[in-house]
Amino acid sequence: MLSKSIDGGSIPSAPASPASSVLIIKAIIMILEIKKYPDQILRKKSKEVKEITPEIRRLIEDMKETMLKVHGAGLAAPQVGVSKRIIVVGTKEGPLALINPKILRKSRDSELGEEGCLSLPGPYLEIKRQKLVEVEALDIAGRKIRLGQDELISKSPANAGYLEGAMLSRIIQHEIDHLNGILIINRISFWQRLKLRKKLKQRAYCSQ
Ligand SMILES: [Zn+2]
Repeated sequence: MLSKSIDGGSIPSAPASPASSVLIIKAIIMILEIKKYPDQILRKKSKEVKEITPEIRRLIEDMKETMLKVHGAGLAAPQVGVSKRIIVVGTKEGPLALINPKILRKSRDSELGEEGCLSLPGPYLEIKRQKLVEVEALDIAGRKIRLGQDELISKSPANAGYLEGAMLSRIIQHEIDHLNGILIINRISFWQRLKLRKKLKQRAYCSQ
């Protein structure tokens, strides 16, 4: 779970979404390639989704499948090469898509927690995040949804050591960071980052 990777952890299967299943069931669900550091798309600020087209719905279904396949706890569109403000997060009920997610409020208190990232395989870093956030977004049907403390608590995957709701708050903050071109290595000290970059670049070079 979180101690393994923020984009990692077991997520229960999602029930089929009634709004999208008619179109999607017959389509071939694709497992998407996950972009890895230092791919430049991970550094870009993603664009707002203006219209939820069939292509966007298809992308979301593929992102959900990809997240489940790689046992991720969350996935952001830039991680699959699409610079749009879409994230998928693991909840107790299965993957939930948030389109154009915005953090409305953050709790004053923060805490450190270990995070990994599918785009940065290997390192798990201690990252400081606000304990709880309130989020507004559009769902796959284009309806406005708001995740306040109650929803976060009821949907948050269980994780020992975290306040109820804090696990999902952490995942959402990590994934929204991706939409702003921020990676976990940007949330650690300069010296830690320098050491890590060297390691990651060596790894990318070796695996080519
Ligand atoms: Zn990540």
